[in-house]
Amino acid sequence: MAISAVHLEADAFLVCMNHALSTEKEEVMGLCLGEMETDRIVHIHSVIILRRSDKRKDRVEISPEQLSAASTEAERLAELTGKPLLRVVGWYHSHPHITVWPSHVDVRTQAMYQMMDQGFVGLIFSCFIEDKNTKTGRVLFTCFQSTQAQKGAEYERVEVPVHVVPRDSVGKACLESAVELPRILCQEEQDTYRKIHSLSHLDPITKIHNGSVFTKNLCSQMSAVSGPLLQWLEDRLDQNQQNIADLQLEKERLQLELASM
Ligand code: ZN
Repeated sequence: MAISAVHLEADAFLVCMNHALSTEKEEVMGLCLGEMETDRIVHIHSVIILRRSDKRKDRVEISPEQLSAASTEAERLAELTGKPLLRVVGWYHSHPHITVWPSHVDVRTQAMYQMMDQGFVGLIFSCFIEDKNTKTGRVLFTCFQSTQAQKGAEYERVEVPVHVVPRDSVGKACLESAVELPRILCQEEQDTYRKIHSLSHLDPITKIHNGSVFTKNLCSQMSAVSGPLLQWLEDRLDQNQQNIADLQLEKERLQLELASM
């Protein structure tokens, strides 16, 4: 039973995009939380950003620990948002500098997830690619499932239509994920640096060099991810304060109206 379509909430889409665009050196990945609706539509409300344990190309694996932590998070959000059916419904990963289509490994990984859950879907965000005509950067995304190929024991992809559902604000769960991103990226840099730094045979110059690379990476992350995020949060705060002021005025107006009746 294949999924007929995926509805991806705009704020969850925003988090995926932010995550995919955070690095062009390697693929990033995460899990999608949502609900399976009647008529085989998967509705994605939010996402969980995952740390990569294996940074080799085309190795986007989710550990059992990560899956179980995600289920716990889904339960927490189900309670928080009042959506009891909320659960892990899919995964996403990025394809920096390459096409949006799933690789053979992706199709096989997807088939494995579908063995556990037939409705599981895979999303791919292709980024840092250039439009040949306009010479501008662009991002493409696709959603897929796997099916047993006609011939042989291999699997092949089935494209699933994906629609981004507009939202007028960013929900609490998506806001939390967006804020989590810089923390995860920083943690990854620290882990890499610690691993290299612990090698005792390195000479002092190499150690200083490694330290500078670590600092440089943190700085570029700050300008690419943390800076814009902070700006966005400040704008959101301004907007919220404006909304509070507007509502306060409206309240006073209504109270006056009520008193004159
Ligand atoms: Zn892939």
